[in-house]
Amino acid sequence: MNIADLRDEWDLVVVGGGITGAGILLNASRMGLKALLVERNDFASGTSSRSSKLVHGGLRYLKEGRLYLTYISVRERERLIREAKGLVEPIGFMTPVYGNRSPGRLSLEAGLRIYDFMSHRRDHKFYGQNEFSMRVPGVKQENLLGGFYFRDAQVDDARLVLRVIKEALLSGGCAINYAGVTEISRNARGDVAGVVIQESETGETKQILTRAVINATGSWAEKIHPSPDQSLHLRPLKGSHLVFPGWAFPFPEGITFFHPADRRPIFIIPWEGAVIYGTTDVDHKNDISLEPVISNEEISYLMDGLNAFFPSLEISINDALSSYAGIRPVLSRKQLAPSKESREHVVWINRGLVTITGGKLTTFRKLAADALKAAMPFLPQAQPVKDEETFKSIPENIIDDRISPLLLRRLTGRYGEGAKEILKDSEADDLSFIPGTTTVWAEIRYAAKHEAIRHLEDLLLRRVRIGLITPGGGKEHLGRIRKLCAPVLPWDEGKWDAEINMYLEKWRRAHSVA
Ligand SMILES: Cc1cc2nc3c(=O)[nH]c(=O)nc-3n(C[C@H](O)[C@H](O)[C@H](O)COP(=O)(O)OP(=O)(O)OC[C@H]3O[C@@H](n4cnc5c(N)ncnc54)[C@H](O)[C@@H]3O)c2cc1C
Repeated sequence: MNIADLRDEWDLVVVGGGITGAGILLNASRMGLKALLVERNDFASGTSSRSSKLVHGGLRYLKEGRLYLTYISVRERERLIREAKGLVEPIGFMTPVYGNRSPGRLSLEAGLRIYDFMSHRRDHKFYGQNEFSMRVPGVKQENLLGGFYFRDAQVDDARLVLRVIKEALLSGGCAINYAGVTEISRNARGDVAGVVIQESETGETKQILTRAVINATGSWAEKIHPSPDQSLHLRPLKGSHLVFPGWAFPFPEGITFFHPADRRPIFIIPWEGAVIYGTTDVDHKNDISLEPVISNEEISYLMDGLNAFFPSLEISINDALSSYAGIRPVLSRKQLAPSKESREHVVWINRGLVTITGGKLTTFRKLAADALKAAMPFLPQAQPVKDEETFKSIPENIIDDRISPLLLRRLTGRYGEGAKEILKDSEADDLSFIPGTTTVWAEIRYAAKHEAIRHLEDLLLRRVRIGLITPGGGKEHLGRIRKLCAPVLPWDEGKWDAEINMYLEKWRRAHSVA
């Protein structure tokens, strides 16, 4: 879609196509509002494709006494596991306990009990040294007392954004990528009257009329709406991950341990056939409009932690497939140590402009509800809605003996009704897995055809994630991908060549670990 095709007047414009904006668009559309979401780059290209991919309560927040945030997050986790099977899935974690390190067995046990209490299920267990070591081969033995198992959940963050946007479109919403808001216009009284939207690549602009704008631009929120509280500002905190091939870590479950340098919890998480390992938490000193990348210091910090707890695995940075970095939208008042800063969200209101920033991927439904509640005085057309299921587009009665129940679950979770078309259009070979991953080739063609792909990186870094989880950004697969997608993308040979070069250059700059 082009901005010229957009209608001139909307009830609500949502700025930002990350998980927060997507959740707001969904709720607004279900309230019967004519709602438009604009994203200046690709959907989920901000922080929402760069998280640790956990839908979790966050034991760390519990330790910091943030009981309400943990409670809401645990409740949301349980709900999303129920409603988004195949997209949000439970994952077990093991965490070692050492006699000479904190946290000790008692404090972990207390935290896990509260965690269980919040979710109304008993889901943790302590294993003694022998059994723990069998389940977590290679873990450092010195002073090891054993360790805990507990359960959380994981997601493909960028696909969650896409799935929520698709649900919104089915409820009458509209979303456009590569179009940013450059100006918020106000009438003589100072009330919001509209926005100017600019096509990111052509520079073409369009004036849109609206009385309500929700600014869901995450780390960039203050560019549109400076904080009304002089002592509270967004503090860009960078978090980076390394991605390793699945074979590098011989554990079926996730692992979390406390980094020896600063006692922060670090995660090793099986994901999409690979393993993601992170994260860091450091002040981001560069311009936030530039692509964030992992630094050498962050790589050293992560590798030091790994080698301290898993020395015998002898994993080296040369084993890593890729890296990615994101900027947390964290509100700071006192400039505490980065990991001590609150992950709660804020809502600011200014005569038709509502800003929501902060929070977590896990709590996106709560952020959406709070933003719309604040915007309600400017939305007299809104119809009240019940607390409905988030995902309604769930295909039923699919029987296809070419694929396993697990793959069917994946496709329906990630693509909703689109799973039917993926299966209908696919030869058996298209339903085979891309080596080393849990992605099948047919997903790529489906995304290219239906998911607003402007550039190759949209497809390989966000609609599917093979740019992160295969060697060299999936370089060796580009020929097959081109053949698969050429019939469904309006690109001539020259455009394909340029896209491949651009993608590989971007991958080298932002995702390689060289
Ligand atoms: C390293 C790391 C790990 C994390 N791990 C987890 C986790 O495991 N679980 C969890 O729950 N949370 C996690 N989080 C937090 C979570 O990722 C973020 O809270 C969430 O993604 C923020 O979403 P958002 O939509 O508010 O922001 P974003 O995803 O950044 O979206 C904002 C969007 O606004 C767009 N934009 C900016 N300006 C404009 C404009 N003028 N016009 C149009 N568009 C504009 C940007 O391009 C961007 O796409 C993590 C964060 C980081 C950095």
